[in-house]
Formats: sequence, C-alpha cells, structure tokens
Amino acid sequence: MNRPVFTTLFLFLFPALLVAGVVAGLNFVSLQYVSEQQSQGAKIIQRGLHVLDAAITQMVQVGLLHDTVSRQLLGASAGDIDEPTAYLLHVKVVDQLALIEQQSKALYPEMIDAGLSGEQLQVWFAQFSKYRQLVLMATDIVAIDPRVAGRYINQAQTVFFDFSAQTFSLTSQLSDLLENRVVSSQNNIQHQFHNTYWVLALGIIIALLVAFFVSRYLSGQLHALLVEMRLLAAQNTLPATLPKVEALKESSSFEIRRLASSMLSFHQAMKDRDMQQARAYQLAFHDHLTGLPNRARLLQVTDEVLIERFQDGDRGGVIKLNINCLKVINDGLGYDQGNQLLVQVGERLSRAISNKAIVARSGGDEFVLLVQNIGSEAEADDDLTAMMRHIHRLFDVPFQLKEQNVFITVVLGAAIFPMHGHEESEETFTHAMIALHAAKALNTEQSLIYHPDLEDAARSRVRIESELRQAIANNHLVLYFQPQVTAAGEMISVETLVRWRDPEKGLIPPGLFIPMAEQSDLIIEVDRWVLTEACRALKQLQDAGSLLHVSVNISGKHFAKDFFITSVMDIVSASGVNPNGLMLEVTEGIFIADLTAVVTKMEQLRKQGIRFSIDDFGTGYSSLQYLKRLPIQELKIDKSFIDGLPSDLEDIALVKTIVGIAQNLELLIVIEGVETLAQVELLNTMGDFVMQGYYYAKPQPAEEIIQKV
Ligand code: C2E
Ligand code: CA
Ligand code: CA
Repeated sequence: MNRPVFTTLFLFLFPALLVAGVVAGLNFVSLQYVSEQQSQGAKIIQRGLHVLDAAITQMVQVGLLHDTVSRQLLGASAGDIDEPTAYLLHVKVVDQLALIEQQSKALYPEMIDAGLSGEQLQVWFAQFSKYRQLVLMATDIVAIDPRVAGRYINQAQTVFFDFSAQTFSLTSQLSDLLENRVVSSQNNIQHQFHNTYWVLALGIIIALLVAFFVSRYLSGQLHALLVEMRLLAAQNTLPATLPKVEALKESSSFEIRRLASSMLSFHQAMKDRDMQQARAYQLAFHDHLTGLPNRARLLQVTDEVLIERFQDGDRGGVIKLNINCLKVINDGLGYDQGNQLLVQVGERLSRAISNKAIVARSGGDEFVLLVQNIGSEAEADDDLTAMMRHIHRLFDVPFQLKEQNVFITVVLGAAIFPMHGHEESEETFTHAMIALHAAKALNTEQSLIYHPDLEDAARSRVRIESELRQAIANNHLVLYFQPQVTAAGEMISVETLVRWRDPEKGLIPPGLFIPMAEQSDLIIEVDRWVLTEACRALKQLQDAGSLLHVSVNISGKHFAKDFFITSVMDIVSASGVNPNGLMLEVTEGIFIADLTAVVTKMEQLRKQGIRFSIDDFGTGYSSLQYLKRLPIQELKIDKSFIDGLPSDLEDIALVKTIVGIAQNLELLIVIEGVETLAQVELLNTMGDFVMQGYYYAKPQPAEEIIQKV
C-alpha cells in the first residue's frame, strides 16, 4: 500500500482504532488483576490445606506413638521388658516427641496465619508438653518401677485424650476457616470481575466520547472537503474558488492539509481544462475581432430556436446588417480604424438590443441578429419592422474613431421563420441575404423583410445588370441636360443626367437603374460613359464659343477608387475639352473616409482646372467644419429643403444657415428642385443663387440644348 492511501485510510480508521485500543488495554489490565487475585486466593487456600494436613498428620503420629508406648508399658508391667530394651524405647520416644514438637512449632506461624487464635494454640502446645513430660517420665521409669510408669501412662492417656480433642477442635476450626477463605476468595474474585466490568465500561464510554469528538473534528474537515468535492464533481458548473478547502490548507492535521492541497491542485487543473475548452470554443464559435458569436455559432443557435418555434407556432427572425462604405473607411483611415469601427458597431448593437436578440458578426462588414421570438405570424412583420427602424436610429449618432468621428449607414435584410415548417437555419439566412440585397436598392432607411417576390426582384436585378452592361456597350444610354439658371433667368450651366433608352421598354429613368448599378462596380461604367459623353458635348459647346459649364454626377464608389484620378483625366484629356468648364458633383458620403486623402484627390483634379460641387448638401451626416478644408467651389442645397418653402419656417431657417455658411466660404450656391414661383420669390430675398428645377426647365436631351446654344 503506498503511503497516501495508507495514511488516508488511517485518518478514517483512527477513531475506531482508538476505541479498540483502549478496550483491549483495559481488558488486558483487568484480566491481569483478576488472575492475580485468583492466584493469591488459591495460594492462601493451599497454605490452609497444608496446615490442616500437617495438624492431622501430627495428631495421627502422636496417636501412633501413644499406642506404641502404651503397649510397651503394658508389656513391661507384665515383666516382659528388660532394662536395655526399656532404655532404647525411652530414647526413641524422646526423639520422636522432640520431632513432633519441632514440627508443631514450625506449624505455629502458619496456624496463626490460617486464623487460629494464639491463646488456643498456647493451650494446645501446653497440653502437648504435659503429655510429653508424662510419656517421657513413664518411659524413663518403666524399667525401674513399671507400676509408677503405669500410673504415668494412665495420666498421659487422659492428657492424650484432651490433646486429641483439642487437636480435633483445632482442625475442625481450621477447616471452617478454610471454607470461609474459599467462599470469600470466590466472592472477592466475583467482586473483582464486577469492578473490572465497570472500569471496562467506563473506559469504553470515555474512549467512545474521545473517538466521537476526534471523529467529529476530523469529519468536520472531511465534510468540508467532501462538500466541495461534490461541487467539483457536479457536471455543469465548476466553482471559481473552494473557500472551505482553502481554509483547510492551514489545518493542524498534516493529512488534511495534504488532502486540501491535492484537491486545490485538482480544482486548478479542472479550471485550466475548462479555460482551454472555453478558449477552443471561443475560437471556433466567436468572431475574434468583436468577441461576438460567429456565423457558425449563430447557425447552431438558429437551428435550436427553429425547433422551438416549430413547436410553439410562434415566429422568430433573422436580421442581416451590412455596413455601407466600410471599404471607404478601410482605404481612407486604415484597417485599424475600420476594425475599431466594427468593434464599436458590435458593442452598440449588443448594448441596444441584446435583451431582444443575439448579435453575431458573420464576417467582413456584416452582422447578423437573431430575434428568438417575435410572437405570432400576424405580429411578426410589424415587430421586425419596428426593430429594424430602431437599429437604423442607432446609427444616427457618429462613431468616435481615433482621428475623426464618422457617420455610417447600414442596410438591413430580415427573414421571418419558420416559413414552411421544415426549413433549416441556412435557408433563413439566405432569405435574409436576399432581402438585404434588395434593400440596398432603396434610397433611405434601407431595410426589407424577405418575401418570395424579392427573389424574382433579385433575379430581375441580375438580368437588368447584364442588360445595362449591354446597354452601355450598345450605346443605349442617353445624355440629358437640366439647365441651371441665374436669378436673371440666364442659363449658365447644365447638369448631366443619364437616361436609358431601351428598344423595347422605352426610356428608363436613372432612379430605376442607378441604385442597382451602385451596388456593383457597374456604376463606374455608367459614370465613365456619362463623363465621356458630357466631355464630348462640352467640347462641342466650347468649340461653338459657348461658356456654358457642365456638371457631371460622380458616384462615391467611383471617387473612392485609387484609379479615380486617371479614370477622369484619361477621358477629359482624350476629349480635348477645357477642364475649366467641367464641374464634378460628389455627395457627402465620400467624406466619411480619410479627409486628407479626399482633399488630395480633389486637389489633383483641381490643378487641372476641374471644379467640385457638393450634391444634395444637408442630407448627409457630415459636419460643416470640413467644408473649410475642401477645395470645392459649389454647394447644391438639396430639393428636400426647398420642398417646404415658402411656408415651412424650419426649412427657411435651415436654408438661411446653409446659405450663410456657403457665402462665408465664398462658395457658389445652387438651389435644386425649384418648382414654384413662390419658392423663387422667397429665395430671391435670401440672396443671389443659381436655380435648378422644373420651374425653369426639366431635364432634356443634351442634343436639344446644344442645338439651341
Ligand atoms: P441628382 O444628382 O440629385 O439629380 C437631380 C435629380 O432631381 C434629377 O432626377 C432631376 O431630374 C431631379 N429634378 C430636378 N429639378 C427637379 C424639380 O423641380 N422637381 C423634381 N421633382 N425633380 C427635379 P433624375 O434625373 O431622375 O436623377 C436622379 C438621380 O440619379 C440623380 O440625382 C443622381 O443622383 C442620379 N443620376 C442621374 N444621372 C446620373 C449620372 O450620370 N451619374 C450618376 N452617378 N448618377 C446619376
Ligand atoms: Ca446631381
Ligand atoms: Ca442633387
């Protein structure tokens, strides 16, 4: 048996061993005592028997001697005995009596010891002495005077009888005493046995009490160990600490200390194992950047939730969230800042809706939210819509990155499950993705819930995309111009607006294909086609001596490309136009990227003479501060601010503010979407602006305007 097992066993057996040891020890001592008492009693009895035996033997000897002497004396009185024979007899009797006397005296202490009284013995001895004297006198005188001898012997006879009677009385007393001794010795032993039992019982009780307290002390500690060991053995949760075991490390018992510290190291090992498992789990099922669950994990959870919803008939939802223009931030501010933004988006989403949904990051610029229960089928649509609106609102507040605050927008695509009762999470995710793609085509608050029709829309979008590609190649796009006029009514510039003239469907407005083209790089093809045609038209106008300026819309996606400068300059140079007549309209969306890079790009084209205008000003989320840093020449106040004029006081105030800033920065101001005389009259009181709107002219084929000019 190795030591730890042995010592542990000892620990458990200690109280039992203690009791057993005490019992065995007491037993041994008391038996020893009883047996000693017994042997002492036996010795006394043995001695008593010996005295009794000696007394009887003495009496018999005296009797035999007396008989011999009496017969001899009788023979002497009859004359049968001569003098020498008588003398021999005398000598012999002297010897024998001396021997008996000696023996009797030797017996004296033993008789006293046996309980006979000294007085009685004195009388007995005196009797014997008298008898001896008479016998000795008788044997002495027998040869001289047998008659005197006869008298003596008669007297001796009487004394002998007395002596015998006395001896008999002594022996019977002795045997009585002996009997008493035996009885008392028996009683004594019995008594000792009783005492021993009591001592034994008392010893056992004390040992039991000691054992009880010892085992209570030991088992109190063992109990603590066991309780926490049970906690360790429990499958689900590992306690963070084992305070009771921790305390036992200071226990006075070496064994307990050892047990406690082995348990603590076992606990540590289990904690390490759990931590490693958690880490592996974290790696497999979590996004390392945001710490949120990843796509794989969310698919798992969705599958579980799907089963629950199959059972209770309620609905759940999956919302896919795509960040617009993450690439712009990555390219402009660097991947660090892009990552920082993703982390903040994850945090903001989690904080705002973690009580309603599980937030996951499925990779890149995409997050997914699992709403476990959105109630019945009837409520599902409204609830999900409300939730998506809430999510959009979360992005009204800018994100604080190291170098600047950025505003971002997101696209949301949602899917409700279960749809048909036997789908899997993958299918729901695909539905949400289809909705997301469809939502990208929306202008504001881009969110959609999946509906089978969207798949048709998606299919038709793919079809339109390829048709648009062909339209560009086949020159089916048409250039339109919308005049921009001064307060005096003079047309000083035009904005180019593209139309798609399909041989079968007729004229398609840009609202139907530009947003779709913006989802892919196809918008760059469109931009380049328009720029090429606009330059061709501008060249024609310049050649004809016109000073008309031409504005061209540039998509943010195009502007963000590294090749943007060459893309523009190649076309401008090839066309041979004077770049001073060219204005590029960009939207505020491009400024969420690194402003320095944007400024650098603009300045490069500015050096070539090309000017810049901020389109739809006021609708983006950018602040007015950056305007100062930008090499821009024009602001276009968005139609949405003009629509409320002249009645909406808020709109009036806003327009006045924007106008004030623009004037301060000496920027040209273009008012978009002017439709009524009332708007014109009010605007004229505010300043001297360039006007663009249906009130003056609708967009018309570029050809027509060139002809007129
Ligand atoms: P945008 O750049 O803001 O263009 C102005 C839009 O407002 C044009 O619509 C124009 O027809 C419309 N508009 C002008 N005055 C009025 C008015 O008084 N009332 C109303 N209701 N509308 C007015 P359009 O031509 O349908 O273009 C829509 C959008 O399509 C443009 O908005 C622009 O963002 C995009 N787009 C058009 N052509 C191009 C292009 O060549 N390249 C790019 N990248 N985008 C283009
Ligand atoms: Ca425009
Ligand atoms: Ca505009």
